[in-house]
Amino acid sequence: MSTDESYDVIVVGSGGGGLVGAYVAASRGLRTLVIEKTGLVGGTTAYSGAGLWFPGSAPLKRAGAGNDLDDARKYLRSVISDSSREALQDAYLAAGVALIDELERNRWFQSFDHRPVPDYYPSAPGATAAGRTIFPPELPVADLGEHAGLVRKPITTERWGIEEGPVLRGGRALIGRALAAFLETGNGSLSVNTALQSLIVENGRVAGVVAVRDGAPVRLRANRGVLLAAGGFERNAELRAKYRNAPLTAAWTNGAPGNTGDALQAGIAIGATTDLLDEAWYVPGLVHPDGLPVFHTGTRGGIWVNSAGERFVNETGPYDQAGHTIARQHAASAVSHIPAYWVFDQRQLDRDSFGGPPGEPPRREWFTSGALKRADTLDELARLIDVPHGALARTIEEFNGFARTGVDQRFQRGQTPWDQMHQHIVGFAYDPVGNYPAKPSPELANPVLPPLDTPPFYAARIVLSDIGTKGGLKIDEHARVLGTDGRPITGLYAAGNTAAAMSGRVYPGAGTPIGSSLAFAYRAVNDIAG
Ligand SMILES: Cc1cc2nc3c(=O)[nH]c(=O)nc-3n(C[C@H](O)[C@H](O)[C@H](O)COP(=O)(O)OP(=O)(O)OC[C@H]3O[C@@H](n4cnc5c(N)ncnc54)[C@H](O)[C@@H]3O)c2cc1C
Repeated sequence: MSTDESYDVIVVGSGGGGLVGAYVAASRGLRTLVIEKTGLVGGTTAYSGAGLWFPGSAPLKRAGAGNDLDDARKYLRSVISDSSREALQDAYLAAGVALIDELERNRWFQSFDHRPVPDYYPSAPGATAAGRTIFPPELPVADLGEHAGLVRKPITTERWGIEEGPVLRGGRALIGRALAAFLETGNGSLSVNTALQSLIVENGRVAGVVAVRDGAPVRLRANRGVLLAAGGFERNAELRAKYRNAPLTAAWTNGAPGNTGDALQAGIAIGATTDLLDEAWYVPGLVHPDGLPVFHTGTRGGIWVNSAGERFVNETGPYDQAGHTIARQHAASAVSHIPAYWVFDQRQLDRDSFGGPPGEPPRREWFTSGALKRADTLDELARLIDVPHGALARTIEEFNGFARTGVDQRFQRGQTPWDQMHQHIVGFAYDPVGNYPAKPSPELANPVLPPLDTPPFYAARIVLSDIGTKGGLKIDEHARVLGTDGRPITGLYAAGNTAAAMSGRVYPGAGTPIGSSLAFAYRAVNDIAG
């Protein structure tokens, strides 16, 4: 093969797994190149809260969260309930602990914090109410010096131009830290605007990649291995349709713009096997005045209704369970659930604002665009959102009964540690990492079940969205991509949403997607480094 450039390791994609894996490889003395298709690093990881579900890791121990890996293993076994993924689960758990120990020895990563986010299946064996999620510390933009402009902006800035201030938070802090640590090793190179097109196979092993850099093809040799960490295929409408990853449209995803499944297709082209291609990290999306949804979680006032004007889910529950319920009910019933409507009243608006900082009224364009409807009576609101006359009022009458007793007899809203967490915080419809403290509501029997009794009434649209697809190339516990014969393809690794998820069809706890991206990138690099 005639090559333009030669490295030990090539990492495709600069999300969390890509950059952290690249840092670890470069810190082991391997000459490592990260190629990134877009002009910015970070992918969907940069949009995220950067929660990492890493049971047993040092920050949890420091916080006295008493995390036992055996309990976490029991929990994963129970909620995922798929024996074919057990080796991946064990690899994930071991990698999380070792990776955080290793990262925290580097000045850029000191030090992660535990914040209590309850596990998503509270009655499963091994679940904890304190959860196992850790977060990276914030990072002043100025600390990144000349690289500051390389980090992808938050969704709020990219979509609506809202300025983000002088500090990187959540996923942007993780990406900024990983980028700085990687480049500081002296063994790392970054090439943005460089898109993987295909994999080069020589003598039965993956020996490099063909990419397009600034419009020109380039052949890049990887002497030790190629790590595909290029996100999912959430932005590729054709692949979504092909793999029945529907009814979500590619425009409704919260995934980053570059995630069109290129690495998945390159792997398939050389004989890789796949799994879970019909799955996504589904979430509810609140439709904004620009007509596009943003990942929504933490509803603690108001209800969601389908086209029959009926509730269909615990609105406060974990977002992926709500997302899957929307998808399932929409497919299985004659009643439309896409869109569903989030119906609330003036009391709720006064209490929590509209997902954003308390005290802020909805901006005018919410009403002028029709994204938020307002009416003085429930019958008038029902007419505006086209649900049967009387149905909405009946649903709310029943819900108000639950609000009076504090017990939701239909969907048990407010019963779990996750739901109860929302007594203390307001959800984040605008800002993925803004957890606004809630005002105390001593007058309510249950603070996440306030009655809807104060006109005017409001309705906003909820559609099915996702934070990435989760099916992809099948990997083993070393993140080696498997061929259709079930054997590893030498030299080829995958992590994050390019790989089929170790968690199968469930979302065990906050931080599983990025946790999987980091953990399997780490496994891959350890295997490559030998
Ligand atoms: C608002 C929000 C909050 C979230 N919060 C959390 C959270 O707190 N914890 C959590 O675990 N998850 C969270 N998620 C989900 C999580 O961010 C993603 O699932 C995860 O970051 C995906 O990581 P990845 O490494 O697979 O891909 P990404 O981070 O998306 O990175 C993939 C990169 O690969 C690049 N790429 C694609 N194709 C090519 C190509 N051909 N050549 C070169 N480069 C390519 C892309 O441009 C992109 O930069 C959140 C998501 C959103 C939207």
